[in-house]
Amino acid sequence: MVNETAESEHSKSFLEIQDLKVHFQTQHRGRKGGARAVDGVSLKLRPKSTLAVVGESGCGKTTLGRAIVGLVSANEGRVLFDGQDIAQLSRAELKAYRRRVQMVFQDPYSSLNPRMKVGEQLEEPLKTHRLGDRADRAEKIRDSLHVVGLSPKDVDRLPVEFSGGQRQRIAIARVLIMRPELIILDEPVSALDVSIQAQVLLLLAELQTEFGLSYVFISHDLNVVHHIASHIIVMYLGRIVETGTARELFESPAHPYTQALLSAVLDPDPDVQRASKRIVLKGELPDPSNPPSGCGFRTRCPYARPVCAVDPPLESDVSLTHSVACHFWNELDLGGNRHIDG
Ligand code: SF4
Repeated sequence: MVNETAESEHSKSFLEIQDLKVHFQTQHRGRKGGARAVDGVSLKLRPKSTLAVVGESGCGKTTLGRAIVGLVSANEGRVLFDGQDIAQLSRAELKAYRRRVQMVFQDPYSSLNPRMKVGEQLEEPLKTHRLGDRADRAEKIRDSLHVVGLSPKDVDRLPVEFSGGQRQRIAIARVLIMRPELIILDEPVSALDVSIQAQVLLLLAELQTEFGLSYVFISHDLNVVHHIASHIIVMYLGRIVETGTARELFESPAHPYTQALLSAVLDPDPDVQRASKRIVLKGELPDPSNPPSGCGFRTRCPYARPVCAVDPPLESDVSLTHSVACHFWNELDLGGNRHIDG
């Protein structure tokens, strides 16, 4: 769990997740089962900060994001926003919550309606929430396009007339127009070329400063999140295996899975890059409806011992802000000390 050390009003968490579990029914060869997409996740997020949730496809990070915005329901546990359990909100309160907490999806091609002009797409959420008259809405649309680096003249164009990066800017403008406080960014740059990724990440950082936004940034790629996130959570098979500040996870990873993800990140220093060895994980992510006994990572872990097949590892504190779920984290030489700027 992200440890909250400072107790000032400013540092209070406004999003808190307590032991969240989201299970799905599955059917395999006619047999019904249950997949634990999110299996006991707890976290806290302070206002105006960025928490990255990192892991491979299928680790539960997108389900976690969808649970935060209320698109999927929790089987157990709670999502608290400003101290209120979102499962207990009235219809009117839920509508207000959905205005304050928005989500940007990975694929701007599918999140935008190809037949609607950009202006109409930006106006739609304002109409749904009955915000402003026609002139107010037109002004908000122009402002939102401007802040994401597009032209007010783009209102009459269709999504097909824009590049991938520009479409993601439109998708960002569409959530920004609601003046949210928290945005769940689900792989927001994964569908874009690397050079365009950097531009969109820079835009997100600028918008955070300008509007005092908080982000939950979901990504499979540690490379993408290390400049934008203050804290990082690493998930595997629906569980948090490590969490800490960005610096702690990059410089002293304590879990073998984090180390494997990190080994795929290119270091800006060529000497460090040459000295660091790439860890290629064996096998695939196990079926979440039939997870391994004990430690979920044991079938791919190079350090697994017999006890790992029996006892699930508990969370251990590495520091006040850094924790890990591995029986042997303090015995393993995981070769950290990668350099990060800032
Ligand atoms: Fe590997 Fe065992 Fe640690 Fe799991 S508990 S990460 S299997 S060493």
